Parts: sequence; structure tokens; C-alpha cells
Amino acid sequence: MTARILVVDDIPANVRLLEVRLLAEYFEVLTASNGADAIETCENGKVDVVLLDVMMPEMDGFEVCRRLKSDPATSHIPVVMITALDQVSDRVRGLQAGADDFLTKPVNDLQLMTRVKSLVRLKSLTDELRLRASTTRNIGIEELLSRNFASAETTPKVLLIDERKSSVERIQKMLRDSADLDVTSDPHAGFFQAAETPYECVMISTAFADFDPLRLCSQLRSLDRTRFLPIILLAEEGEEERIIRGLELGINDYLMRPIDQQELTARLRTQVRRKRYNDQLRASVTQTIEMAVTDGLTGLHNRRYLDSHLQTLFDRAVARRRPLSVMITDLDRFKSINDMHGHDGGDEVLREFARRLRKNVRGIDLACRFGGEEFVVVMPDTDGMVAEKVAERIRAEIAQKPFAIGSDGKTIEVTVSVGVSSVLKGVDTVAALMKRADLALYEAKSGGRNRVVAKAA
Ligand code: GH3
Ligand code: MG
Ligand code: MG
Repeated sequence: MTARILVVDDIPANVRLLEVRLLAEYFEVLTASNGADAIETCENGKVDVVLLDVMMPEMDGFEVCRRLKSDPATSHIPVVMITALDQVSDRVRGLQAGADDFLTKPVNDLQLMTRVKSLVRLKSLTDELRLRASTTRNIGIEELLSRNFASAETTPKVLLIDERKSSVERIQKMLRDSADLDVTSDPHAGFFQAAETPYECVMISTAFADFDPLRLCSQLRSLDRTRFLPIILLAEEGEEERIIRGLELGINDYLMRPIDQQELTARLRTQVRRKRYNDQLRASVTQTIEMAVTDGLTGLHNRRYLDSHLQTLFDRAVARRRPLSVMITDLDRFKSINDMHGHDGGDEVLREFARRLRKNVRGIDLACRFGGEEFVVVMPDTDGMVAEKVAERIRAEIAQKPFAIGSDGKTIEVTVSVGVSSVLKGVDTVAALMKRADLALYEAKSGGRNRVVAKAA
């Protein structure tokens, strides 16, 4: 997992300390020694997580956090406040300023890494949704994004799974005004209840006499209906190992007992906000993009989507200095397939081709029907050599297995030619990138078809 972490602290030695540990885990690290610089760096849009010191001259960490969280351009960036040990009031102030998490000084190494990693994971989900949503806007579809995201401080529906009566009673009291709380003492029943009810957060105690609470966490993560349901673990002092395992399994947050009421309500609010934000994005994405930018015949994205999204992916690759490759595929002698098997037969071949194409690319690759019997795949984080291998795999997948046509078991042989190009270091543009892929495709055709040609970077 690569991600950019911004470390903000007015004391250079503190910055250096965190920087070294993050670099050792292969994170990219940016630094700032004051609030104004930190905000500017975030506005430039290249930060995945902010580690923010509370005590700074001029603008303190709370103010920086408040400003980041109130600007729509930066409000989605997770902020971790770094507070002095035992300053519960600082933590609570930080969370009220909108911070997503906090760490106490001296910063515990494992805690630093697991917290940062879990926030990076969340951020990448949010990024993807934002990216798609902005694509939708770019292609001119007025949609539901204008709705107020973090809307509605309506009372969230929350499930508590805890078998200790005294603990349940305490938590019920603490959340009386801030959550609509259901409680179950049986983890098995809790699992089904979580799957069947639209909760916005589930809190799981670690203290069961004979049940492993992490099993429940992992079950919730693997079930479609609860995959995005925030999980907060209620742990005991000294259960660090278990918390770390939990974070690896995808729990979103944890609280140490004895539980502080303000901390509990603030953490819960953060989780619920984030869930609502992501749910709305996901819903708007599903509703609009799928209809407007999908090719009806193959179910792949259409050209309209590609035209708008490719530029975004290209800009992101350039900004992050990551590779990006595209391939253009064109079925060979497709006209004669139409001539021999009719237009419907041709359509069947296109559908099956799209199916095989999709099967052979990754989820983050963007596969589109470019037009007619031409398809384009955009591959983020993929250099020319890898892209050529992917193209060759697709070529072989088409040539080696004949296509079924009609219902009487008839098959025909189909081949495809592929042109591959990659973003060049230095000056490059989307148009030039596509042009190179197109030239490569032309070479593949004139070289005899059923082959891959890659334009060396
Ligand atoms: P080459 O190997 O040079 O690519 O030969 P080709 O015959 O594939 O090339 P050409 O681009 O001349 O022909 C493409 C054909 O694809 C022409 C068009 O009728 C057909 N076609 C385009 N869209 C569709 C479609 O949606 N369904 C079907 N069945 N055929 C289509
Ligand atoms: Mg063609
Ligand atoms: Mg063709």
C-alpha cells in the first residue's frame, strides 16, 4: 500500500521521528512545520492522511483540523491528531474539530502503522468514489451530488454486541441522546441482526466468555450486506495484539475501557458520518453512471465515459509519477464474421469478447467499448512491459478458444489485434498516448493480425 502522509509539527525532531518510521514502511512522506503550510499542501490534493500535532504556535492543530474539515476540497482527507498523553480533553476537542483519529505522544509504533493503514484504506475508497462522481459531473449529468453529504445529524441506528450487563448499561446511558441503540449479548444472533437491519455502526465488545470477537468482525467484513458497516471494537487495556489483528481484518476503530463518554460519542459520530458520505456517493454513482456511460450490448463502459475518465486517470498518474498504459483492441476481419453469421452473430461475438476482456483485466482497470468492434482498456499503475503481457494474454484467450455462435453448438475462430502504449516521462498528453496505441494497432494489423504491438516508452 503506497500512500502520501503529511506530517505536521513545529518541532523538527518530532517530524523527523515520524518521517523515519513511515518511510521504513514505504509510505511517502511530506512535512510541514506550521498550519498554513499544512493546509496549502492539502489543498494541492496530494495527501492521503494528515498526522497533525496539536501544540503549534500561531495556528494550533485544532484550528488546522477545523479548516481542513470545513473545506469541501480537503474535508475527505483523514486527520490524525497527535496529543499529549492523558489529555482526554485534547482528544475530545480534536474529534469535535472533525479529526478522524488521534495518537498520543510518545507515539507507539504499531499503533501508528495500523491506524495510518486503516485510514489509508478508507481514503482510497473515498477517493475512488469521488473520482467517479466527478467524472459523472464532467460528462454533464446533473445528479444527486448536490445533496448535502455529511448531512443530517439524524440519530444513527447502532448495534451493541456485548454480553456483560454492567457494560451494556453504562454504554446505553452514555448514548441515550446520541444513538438509537439495539443490544444483543449473543454474538451469533448479533451477526444475523447486523445483516438484516440497516445499522450505521456496530460496536463489538472483546470480552466474551467463550467466543472470539474477531471471528465476528471477519464474518461481517466478508458478507456483502455488512462489508461497509463501520465496526468499533470495545477493548480492554493490554489487548493491543488483538486490536491490531482487528484492524487488519478491517475494523474501523476501537475504544479502550474504561470508556469515556465524549470519546465514544465523537468516535461514533465520525464513523457514521463517513458511512453516510460513502453511501451517498456510492448510490449516486450507481444510479447515474451506470445508465449513462454503459454500453448496452456488452455492459462495458462506453466511449463517452472513457473520454472523460481517461484524462482524470492520466492526470493522477502524472501527478503521482505512476505508470499508466492503454491498449486498443480491434477484432480481425470482423466484417466477414457479420457477413457469414449475420449481425446477431456478430453481436454475440462482441458480447463474448467483452466477457473475456473483462475476465482478463483487474478491477481497477477501465475497460470500454470504444466503438464498433474496437475496445480500449486503461491500466493504472501499469508499465508498458506488464501491459504488453496483459495484451498478449487477452490475444491468446481470444485465439485459443473458439466462440460459440447461435444455439446449435456452432463455433467460429476469432482473433484480435492489439496496440499498447504507456505514458511517457516528460511531456505527454492523452491524445498522444491514444495516438501511439492506435499506431501500434495499425502495425499489428499490417503485420498480419492476431498479434500485439507495443510502442516502447
Ligand atoms: P480488420 O481486421 O482490418 O479490423 O477488419 P474488419 O473487418 O474488422 O474492419 P472494419 O473496421 O472495416 O469492420 C468493422 C465492422 O464491424 C464493420 C461493422 O459493420 C461492424 N460492426 C460495427 N459495430 C457493430 C455492432 O455493434 N454489431 C455488429 N454485429 N457489427 C458491428
Ligand atoms: Mg475496426
Ligand atoms: Mg476490425
